[in-house]
Amino acid sequence: MRVTPILCLRDNYAYLVQPNAGPEALIVDPSEAAPVLRAVRDAGPRIAAVLCTHHHWDHVGGVEELCARAGPIGVYGHSSERSRLPGLNQPLDDGSVFEAAGLSVTALHVPGHTRGSVAYRIEDAVFTGDTLFVAGCGRLFEGTATDMHSSLGRLASLPDQTLVYPGHEYTLNNLQFAAKLEPDNQRIRAKLDRVAEQRRRGKPTVPSSMGEERLTNPFLRVRENPIVRSVSGSLGPDPDDVAVFASVRAAKDRFQ
Ligand SMILES: [Zn+2]
Ligand SMILES: [Zn+2]
Repeated sequence: MRVTPILCLRDNYAYLVQPNAGPEALIVDPSEAAPVLRAVRDAGPRIAAVLCTHHHWDHVGGVEELCARAGPIGVYGHSSERSRLPGLNQPLDDGSVFEAAGLSVTALHVPGHTRGSVAYRIEDAVFTGDTLFVAGCGRLFEGTATDMHSSLGRLASLPDQTLVYPGHEYTLNNLQFAAKLEPDNQRIRAKLDRVAEQRRRGKPTVPSSMGEERLTNPFLRVRENPIVRSVSGSLGPDPDDVAVFASVRAAKDRFQ
């Protein structure tokens, strides 16, 4: 399987996902049609399906034009977003498994950013939309801290080598925040240096791996002492994981 990130809008990633053989491909989160159609033309496959992680316009803005160009294709998303997701014709629930472009896809319902957010697992990759970013997580627009903490826990239980493909290029800012919470974490320091250099050269910082996320992403590390200490002033002794998570999320909302 080959995954090609397609930069859309300012900092969104759509993805072109191609099996090792065969004429078809999947598109994840087409924010806008033009850059996706360019990438498809360059690579040569036929679009077999569109996978939508959630209904926000910066992830699905290109769905209708892609469908108009590609003909009748499957547009996948969570069943609860049916009325808000343009072109959705393949509603999914948690654990739905389907075949598209010769690939087996598993949908994980991960509410928190929106009520119907979905992550898609394909072979050793997971497409996480605005739920899990490299070194960060999405804002709680429609869900609670409990929802998001539990959704991230499910994603974090995927094997270490799982490649993580998020919906935005937010890595540098996320790692600067992570380094502030855990100034002595050498892995965060090293990754921050590496990512700063990648961004200077205009390179994408995706994918990450789940193993690396568990070691560097503060939202997957709310049981670690430095993270608990960084927010415990406002929470009192022995805060529970969700309270720490909510505090870290609120601190990130204020971080520039
Ligand atoms: Zn979003
Ligand atoms: Zn987004």
